[in-house]
Formats: sequence, structure tokens, C-alpha cells
Amino acid sequence: MSTDIDVLIIGSGPAGATFARHLADRTTARILMVDTGSALTSDTGGNIRNLMPEAREQAWGQARTFPLAAIPHDAPADVLQARPGTHLLNPLATATPLHQGMPAAAMSSNIGGMGIHWTCACPRPSGSERISFLDQTRLDAAYETAEAYLQVTQQGFPATALSQSIIAALNDRFSDGRDATRLAQPMPLACTPQPDGKPRWSGTDAILGDLARAEVRARRGLEIRPDTLCRQILTRDGVASGAMLRHLPSGRDYEVHASVVVIAADALRTPQLLYASGIRPQALGRWLNDQPQVIALIDVDAPARPNAKAGSTQDGRDNVSGVTWLPFNEPDFPFHGQLMQMDTSPIAFHQNDKDVGKPVVGLGLFLAKDLREDDRIMFSDERDALGMPRMTLSYTLTDADRAGLEKALKAVQQVGAALNGVANGGEAIILPAGTSLHYQGTHRMGPVDDGTCVTSPASRVWGFDNLYLGGNGSIPTATACNPTLTSVALALMAADDIIERFFPPHSL
Ligand code: FAD
Repeated sequence: MSTDIDVLIIGSGPAGATFARHLADRTTARILMVDTGSALTSDTGGNIRNLMPEAREQAWGQARTFPLAAIPHDAPADVLQARPGTHLLNPLATATPLHQGMPAAAMSSNIGGMGIHWTCACPRPSGSERISFLDQTRLDAAYETAEAYLQVTQQGFPATALSQSIIAALNDRFSDGRDATRLAQPMPLACTPQPDGKPRWSGTDAILGDLARAEVRARRGLEIRPDTLCRQILTRDGVASGAMLRHLPSGRDYEVHASVVVIAADALRTPQLLYASGIRPQALGRWLNDQPQVIALIDVDAPARPNAKAGSTQDGRDNVSGVTWLPFNEPDFPFHGQLMQMDTSPIAFHQNDKDVGKPVVGLGLFLAKDLREDDRIMFSDERDALGMPRMTLSYTLTDADRAGLEKALKAVQQVGAALNGVANGGEAIILPAGTSLHYQGTHRMGPVDDGTCVTSPASRVWGFDNLYLGGNGSIPTATACNPTLTSVALALMAADDIIERFFPPHSL
């Protein structure tokens, strides 16, 4: 087991995997990527949505055995259920009152992180969602590479009469003030179309490419080490020299030494690890940004499908048959709209108990949060089940957020009307804070070290020469759209900075 390496990456989700792939493809660096969780699938970071039900249940069952996922015996009956493959930060959280703190805050602890459980929507941000202080040409190039790594396509599902009629109906109603790139259209999805019409969803295996295969990794100097908690980053005079790691099954602690350290341990645990390491800049854990979210199930006024029945497909995989994107477009439509064509919702809720035999779409509207420094992670001297500083979240919706939610509820009715449908049961639902799973801002980047950001635009921690951060916590803007594509793009830009500064071509 190597303890002396060139690059140490903490966290194997989409952000960590991007650093690993980009550096392994372009340098001869010896890279170690550790993750506190186990491998849940036999491939490295394959998406669980591709599995048949039995294998999927087995993987989710294994995820529930992670120490942080344990549900206390005294949990109230109305305790919130984590999405499969995730565990709640506060396992005792209930959804009432709706917006006190962030009850649904969750994380994944396994090889591939949330990136093996995700729904794969990869729209590009626009307008105020974009990070304006970055070089826009470089940012666009990074988005293009990110789309290639994630295998993003708008042809994931075959175009059907139904999906085309949904897009046409939305554009009839919502095209005013949109340019061609922001009209309703098929959702860019990280997946590969398949002949049977069900795409193969990208996990972190897609990002790793050939490196998803153990023998290729061994040849090219990348090791992925599961069940390994990073307890602390070792630092001296603005230099990160390595980390203190713990092999969780045995409890054995050991040090590794590295020339460059990357932390990509999600938007909650990257700040936790920095805090545990005594790296505590003013903005650390602050500016916490979760997208408020409204959902509704809408019956589409289209002919009933032959043999239509709510439930899963015959082979037991999910029953999404298309995803439409109604893009964020200021000022009239300040929401990211996601319409899943299917028989059941992307989020577990039970408005539609009866099968009306008609197509349904699950509509989700994500809002851009009114960002506040005081929305934050708070760390205590107490320890969590892994011995890390215990976290609680202080989080509030502002008047602007509440006004945005009111507007979103009206927009749901407008979408329902555009599809000639009724919002089934008549009600759109505002989801408890944290449900988006898109937490951002907690280690955000900024153009200057002015106390409102944790890293430079290259994702390097201010005051450190060789400590880089990756993941949604790096995103400083109030995005409404799904963040993973942006995190992968920012990780690519950071990896380029590492290559330029530590592995220039003449050094290879
Ligand atoms: P993660 O994927 O969370 O990975 C972080 C990893 O770090 C974890 O594996 C964790 O075990 C590890 N780690 C944490 N602390 C330590 C430590 N101290 N030591 C060692 N390892 C550590 N996003 C989208 O853009 N589009 C979508 O459609 C979408 N749908 C989603 C649906 C679901 C059900 C879920 C769960 C998520 C979804 N997301 C979606 C969110 C998306 O998965 C995340 O944005 C993405 O995975 C974040 O990548 P990451 O690498 O920053 O973090």
C-alpha cells in the first residue's frame, strides 16, 4: 500500500473522479483516490439505475449499513426518508415545520458518491447562474469537456409523439423572451442511448473511462481505495503535505504524503474536513445554497397508452420514458424546469394513487436561492459516528425565496394548463429544504481573497500552494439548474491548474 504519492484525492464522486481522469490522462503522476465508503457495484462507479431490481436493492441495502446511515431506534414515526443510496445528515429529521433548518440534507458514502445514484440531468447554466469572473471562453471549453466525460446527450430517449407534443405545448406557452437555446427541449442527460429505448445511465465509471477498469488503473498509476476516511489534512506553512487516513474496517490510522492534495468530499464534508484540519477561513461552510423545489404530477391530455398501468417497466428498471427541459430564463421564468415523462414520480410522493391510464409527467421546478452568508454549516466539539466534527445546519428562506416559491406554484399551474392537463389532486408540493441534493457554496470560489470565498478561481484554497477543492460547494452563484456538470467543469479547470503548476510537459 503506497504512502508516498504525487496526488491525493479525497472523495470518489463525480468531482474526485474528474480530477483522477484528467490528471491520469495528462501526466504520469501517481494518484491515490480514497473514499470513506465501499464499492456498491461490481463495476467502478456504475450507476445503480442500470441495475435490475434485485441487484439494486442489494446495493441500497449495503449503503444503509454505512455507520452514518444508521437510523436511531427512537426516530419519530414521521421521520424523513432519505432517497435510496443516501443518508440524512440528521437521521431524526421530520419535514415539519417545512423550512426550519434543512431537514432533508443528505449525502452518499460509497465509491462514486451521489454520482452512482443520480438522475443524470446535465443542463448548462445561463445568465446569472454562470460564474462571471471566470474566463468565459475557458469555462465554455471546460463545459464541453465535462459533457464529453459525462457522455451528455439530448438523444438519451427516442423522440416520441408524446415527448414532441409536450415540447411543442411548452413552447406555445413559454417561448416569449427566450432565444433558441433556451426553448423547451429534450433534457441534456448523462447517458448512452440503447436500442431498447432505455438509456445506459452514466455513473462515475463514465467519467473514469478506461480507468474504471482495475487493470488499466494499475498500469497508469491510479489507485482507488474504498473504506478509507480522511480524518485530517496535514499542513505546514501554507503547504499541504498529505493526510491522516483511517481504514474503517480495522480502525487503523496511517499517514500518506503527497505533492498535491484535492478534497472533493461533497459540499458538507469538504468543509468538515477542512475544519477538522484547522483550516477555517471566514467563508468556510457559509453561503450554503440549496435550491428550493416545487413538484407536481400532471396528467397529460394525450391518448391513454395501450395497456397503460402506473408502476415499473417489465424488467423492473425505472419507468421514465423521456425527460424535457424548460430552461431557467430570467426575468420571466426564474426556474429550472424538469419534466419526467413516466408512470411514477422521480421523487417519492403519492398524489397519484389511481391509474388514469394517461401519460403523466412529474414536474420539478428548482429555484435559485437568495444567497446569505448566515445560511451555514455549524461545527461542534461533539463528534459524529466517524469521529468527525458534528455538523448542524442553520438555514432559512428569505422573503425573496418565499415570493419565488409563490411564483413557482403559479408556474406549475401554467405548465399544467399548457399540457392541457390538470395538476392531479390540484396541489403542487413545496419540498422540505435539502431535498434538491444540490448543496452549493460552502467552499465557494471567488476572484479575490476578501473573506467571502474559500478558494481562488482555480479552486486552490487561499493561502495554500497545493490544496485544491472540488464539488458543488465550489459554485458561488445562485444556480437553479442541476450542478454536477458545472462541478465537473470547475474540476477540469482546477486539474489544468495542477498540471500547469506541478506537472508541466517538460517534467514528464
Ligand atoms: P459526491 O458525489 O457526494 O461524492 C463525495 C464523496 O466523498 C462520497 O463518496 C463520500 O463518501 C466521500 N467522502 C466524504 N467525506 C470523506 C472523507 N472525510 N474521507 C473520504 N471520503 C469522503 N445532480 C445533477 O447535476 N443532476 C441530477 O439529475 C442529479 N440527480 C440526483 C439524484 C439523486 C438521487 C442524487 C442522490 C443526487 C443527484 N444529483 C444530481 C446530485 C449529484 O449526484 C451530485 O451533484 C454529485 O454527485 C456531486 O459530486 P461530488 O463528487 O462533489 O460529491
